[in-house]
Amino acid sequence: MAIFISMKKCENCQRSEDEVPLIKYYHRQDKHYICTRCLPMLIHG
Ligand SMILES: [Zn+2]
Repeated sequence: MAIFISMKKCENCQRSEDEVPLIKYYHRQDKHYICTRCLPMLIHG
């Protein structure tokens, strides 16, 4: 019996949604997750 848990993690720092608030965004029709700490980095560069 396989149990699948979809772990949402920040793409930048790999922290899970248990540790940091994660924001879902779309880029080139793909789903991505970034935490609020890394979000400024995403915006600026
Ligand atoms: Zn992060």
